[in-house]
Amino acid sequence: MLLINCPCCGPRDEFEFRCGGQAHITRPEPPEAVSDKQWGDYLFTRVNPKGLSLERWVHAAGCRQWFNVARDTVTHEIRAVYPMGEGAPSLTTGAAQ
Ligand SMILES: [Zn+2]
Repeated sequence: MLLINCPCCGPRDEFEFRCGGQAHITRPEPPEAVSDKQWGDYLFTRVNPKGLSLERWVHAAGCRQWFNVARDTVTHEIRAVYPMGEGAPSLTTGAAQ
């Protein structure tokens, strides 16, 4: 079980949260200049790392705020919690990719 440190509410059980998938996905612009391959990648292609994963989470049963989490998919250790719109923290992967 994960203990996630919500930036607004503090540490809470993972059952109060929902994962929104991979963080830092940028919508390709302008839409009329984007190829079908680029648009398909934007919609459907996600990384599935063994090790450090950058994810979006929402405190669904709490403050309902979105934030980013850097989590190790092997150990489930949460390495960092940081606000939406902020760049990824510089962390080592900790495991093979
Ligand atoms: Zn919260």
